[in-house]
Amino acid sequence: MLNRPLLLIAALLLILLLVWFQRPAPVTEVARTALIMGTLVEIKGVGQDQKHINRAISNAFTAMRKEEERFSPQIESSRLSLLNRTTAAVMVDPQMLELLQLGQEISRQSQGAFNLGLGRLKALWNFEAEDPRVPTTAAIKAILPDPDHELVHIAGNRVTRSSGVQLDLGGIAKGYAVDQALKVLRTAGITSASVNAGGDIGLLGGHGERPWKIGIQHPRRPGEVLATLELRNQTIVTSGDYERFFIQKGVRYHHLFDPQTGLPARGCQSVSVIAPNAAEADALATAAFVLGPQKGLELLEQRPQVEGLILAADGTASVTSGLKGRIQWR
Ligand code: ADP
Ligand code: MG
Repeated sequence: MLNRPLLLIAALLLILLLVWFQRPAPVTEVARTALIMGTLVEIKGVGQDQKHINRAISNAFTAMRKEEERFSPQIESSRLSLLNRTTAAVMVDPQMLELLQLGQEISRQSQGAFNLGLGRLKALWNFEAEDPRVPTTAAIKAILPDPDHELVHIAGNRVTRSSGVQLDLGGIAKGYAVDQALKVLRTAGITSASVNAGGDIGLLGGHGERPWKIGIQHPRRPGEVLATLELRNQTIVTSGDYERFFIQKGVRYHHLFDPQTGLPARGCQSVSVIAPNAAEADALATAAFVLGPQKGLELLEQRPQVEGLILAADGTASVTSGLKGRIQWR
């Protein structure tokens, strides 16, 4: 005869064991950083398989480094450097084509406020120097691209640079690299991740079950947050006059130039743009910053699925219609 209570205990144990093994693995978050494009990039991945997330993050960093090698003006072998050395037609890869086309589009829509031909101006200002100085008006005038002249001519996959112009993709390339990282993470099956390249942020899904909570840096109080907002599956990019700047005779000079004057644009302290992809958000943030609060906001309102927050030079904040009520001010 079988012992009934014993059988019952055995069955219970079996059920317990089954439940134990079928229980979903605990959710973990992996966060890693790397120095890419002169910026500390942080990628976070949330999920159950830590090894898998780690591998995906490594591949995402690799993808970003590839974009750095393509678009860096410092790397001699980059596609961009090649383009800047010749005025002959150059066959470019789809990535370069995509970026130049998007740049041209934003340039047209911003009436030239966004300008991919400011390489010589950037070199002249040289914010990376130990002791940066304001260049002379004559030196600036001599190298400003002619607004009526096409910077690059695109025909199929061939690109011809206008002589006298040096291309600089600093206002858009980092966003593009964030998009490539997101693509790698998504393809790996990651459903919850964030990529933060010094304020160029791309988000995959939410932060676990919740949306991602994003803090917008206060332009005048380092380390303090101006506002927060909740986002999922979007990108948010901020351009500010506090990132790269120096002060001469009490005046702040920063790295977002008005192509009409060759001087830092004076209308804003910072612009944050939310868009479906980070390359677009990046270019639009720079463009809106240069246009100033009023025209900048008009530009953002024109683009579908784009929202933004502009902090004017006098500290007044304005937001696009779709963002009203979605921001928590600090
Ligand atoms: P970052 O995140 O590196 O600070 P931003 O997206 O704010 O970059 O753009 C700043 C960079 O954009 C500058 O360093 C320069 O390379 C480029 N840039 C500056 N002014 C313009 C402009 N009017 N149009 C396009 N690019 C610009
Ligand atoms: Mg930008």
